[in-house]
Amino acid sequence: MDFEKLETQLSELPLYVYFFIDPKELEFSSRIRWICEHECPMYGKTWACPPGVGSVDDCQAKCLRYSNCLMIGTITEAADISNMEDALKTRPEHEKLTNQIREFFREQNIEPYILSTEACAVCDRCAIADGLPCRKPERMHPCLESHGINLIPTLDGLDLEFQYGGDVITWYSLLFFNP
Ligand code: SF4
Repeated sequence: MDFEKLETQLSELPLYVYFFIDPKELEFSSRIRWICEHECPMYGKTWACPPGVGSVDDCQAKCLRYSNCLMIGTITEAADISNMEDALKTRPEHEKLTNQIREFFREQNIEPYILSTEACAVCDRCAIADGLPCRKPERMHPCLESHGINLIPTLDGLDLEFQYGGDVITWYSLLFFNP
């Protein structure tokens, strides 16, 4: 794999940060899954969310099939972070960049396994509601939390924050791959 080419491409994007991390160093926690189950209104509503994504152990095994992981972060400002609608309006730009980076991998014949932000919003009505398989699995990226990933220790280790206060929002994606 041509890392130099990838890093040149990454440096041309409006990313806040990117790091290559060892998937084995990520923290997978059933506590995060508990939060999905008890506090997220999207639980069970898309194939990108639990329980559709499988158990935390299954999700961890899926991620650990890969020897490397590119973490990307973007930073933006919402009109009012306490308003969910305002906060979510900032998400498509991050998703666009995530998909753009997926194409960089594909140019090198590598298909990354991608975790990104929030629940999947590709279709107006998720196929899970009709008991049907995902219609566009190649476009669907489960969120980090759905896999039980607690990103805070990873960010701490890199001197990064998950929240910077005010109306500032950070979004992160993980692209697992085998070089
Ligand atoms: S791509 Fe469509 S069917 Fe698949 S998880 Fe997303 S919304 Fe559901």
